[in-house]
Amino acid sequence: MTSQRIVVAGAGGFIGSHMVRFLKSKGYWVRGVDIKYPEFSPRDEADEFMLLDLRDEKNCLKATEGSIDRIYQFAANMGGIGFITSVKADVMRDNVLINVNMAEAARRNDVGRILYTSSACIYPTEKQVTPQVVPLKESDAYPADPDNEYGWEKIFSERVYAAYNVDYGLDVRVSRYHNIFGEKGTYYGGREKAPAAICRKVAIAALRGDKKITVWGDGEQTRSFCHVADCVEATYRLMESNHKEPLNIGSDEMVSINQLVDIVSSIEGIKLTKIHQKNQPQGVRGRNADLTLMKSVLGWKNQLTLEDGLRRTYPWIKSQVKSDGVTSFKD
Ligand code: NAD
Repeated sequence: MTSQRIVVAGAGGFIGSHMVRFLKSKGYWVRGVDIKYPEFSPRDEADEFMLLDLRDEKNCLKATEGSIDRIYQFAANMGGIGFITSVKADVMRDNVLINVNMAEAARRNDVGRILYTSSACIYPTEKQVTPQVVPLKESDAYPADPDNEYGWEKIFSERVYAAYNVDYGLDVRVSRYHNIFGEKGTYYGGREKAPAAICRKVAIAALRGDKKITVWGDGEQTRSFCHVADCVEATYRLMESNHKEPLNIGSDEMVSINQLVDIVSSIEGIKLTKIHQKNQPQGVRGRNADLTLMKSVLGWKNQLTLEDGLRRTYPWIKSQVKSDGVTSFKD
């Protein structure tokens, strides 16, 4: 047991809801905050849950009052590549407001420490132009040239928190996540990311007896994907470390999207013909994480392979698709 009081902002979302469960299992007192309740987890997993719009400064002050020791700042208007390439202004406005107001609220309420969740999307486009890329290390961030507006907001907010550290002594940690996936995450509706979308499409094909699957782009674009169980463990270790600079959290097991489809299909035990949709967004051509610094700072490495993580995630998404009714899905 510990007497520490923790705020998880964005606790209604994917990683935030897993973080709440993880922190409760360690005995912390946890306040969840979000603009919505969690979709796939009970809201009373946290000791209290505040419904607040964190774009508003007063709400950020309310969310962080009461002798808070740690804030995990997950709240963001975000989604997969389809979402962040089509929604630009709202993503930048909402996320700048949330992060500026959370930094200020943490300062004014004298919060012990705040962890900001940045992204691999901050890395420069020119380092991600071929499928066989050199893994990105933390020092690759500058000169900055993110591929999309979501990434520009993320790197701007990294600097907001760094400035609060320098000018006001706010104790800050920064994770740079590389594609987190797992159970209880969005799998339909436009905000889902590649692993969830592929699991959904394979489940629909299996349930309908289809032999084909659509894949965005030519499927040769590469990424690495990290299961949420490893993500929350690494995030917690970063929070409790002395490392004040941004740190990659992800996996260095790089695959193409075509390979991702093949792994999920083999878990289901079917073979599918890929129909490549060249006009759909696919983001940078290749991306992988260099985790050298993460392993040395955290004294820890990922526990799950991509296939391990997909073996946990796929059955959950298939059961969701089944209970939603397979006919309710277009793709
Ligand atoms: P998510 O969309 O599931 O969760 C974000 C949560 O923020 C949602 O529940 C949403 O309702 C909440 N939110 C949005 N606007 C809000 C507002 N105005 N006030 C209060 N709450 C608000 O996303 P996630 O995948 O859990 O990501 C968590 C964090 O990690 C985000 O900051 C995201 O940018 C970052 N990140 C995630 C990934 C990934 O692969 N999932 C990769 C890189 C970075």
